[in-house]
Amino acid sequence: MRIIMMGPPGVGKGTEAVILVKHFNIPHISTGNIFRELFHDDTEIGKIAKSYIDRGELVPDDITNEIVHQRLSKDDVKDGFLFDGYPRNIAQAEALDKMLEEKNWTLDAVINFQATDELIIERISGRRVCKKCGAVYHIHNKPPKTEGVCDQCGGQLIQRDDDKQETVLRRLRIYYDQTEPVIGYYKDSGLIVNIDGSQTIEKTNADIMKVLGEMN
Ligand code: ADP
Ligand code: ZN
Repeated sequence: MRIIMMGPPGVGKGTEAVILVKHFNIPHISTGNIFRELFHDDTEIGKIAKSYIDRGELVPDDITNEIVHQRLSKDDVKDGFLFDGYPRNIAQAEALDKMLEEKNWTLDAVINFQATDELIIERISGRRVCKKCGAVYHIHNKPPKTEGVCDQCGGQLIQRDDDKQETVLRRLRIYYDQTEPVIGYYKDSGLIVNIDGSQTIEKTNADIMKVLGEMN
């Protein structure tokens, strides 16, 4: 299974991604997570990426595409993968096409999450992430058992710097300008699955599983 997850920031892509990769037993490739790990490990690329991320801007394509290229050269992607947050503009979609062509791989689905701006802003403002393991929570929709503490590792839950209000608005604008056109890019492929991202985590997952089942 080779899947791409698309949709505005904070729509629930990452949360659904975690459920799907467990189900299909494929690696979860989140470019956002990779950049945060590179920063956490104090790498040069991580520092460059963070300067863009904190402003709510896209990390430059050459860096992003190279990171994806390296990720796709690892062994564990042979039986499939799920992209979460990539491609984020047309140039990245074209770069991905080239990488897939080189390997003679085709995509199985492009899952497009839909939600209103209002909901996105509510979702992002309530989002909390574990400082240690990166697990994602929401103060109302997916609260941890103990406030401020990660269920999985006991780490401290914090708000991402780029989840603060001003940055969120900029990320949304960039989404509409640059990322939404990628859906047009895949329009004729027959791979697009539109999913209502305003529902509960469970209902959204049920919808995704249903359409993926119907596609095979
Ligand atoms: P969200 O889905 O909530 O926007 P992500 O973790 O996917 O969160 O992304 C966080 C930030 O990481 C983005 O705002 C952007 O700066 C950077 N980023 C992630 N993926 C890409 C990408 N494919 N191209 C450029 N920048 C990216
Ligand atoms: Zn944790």
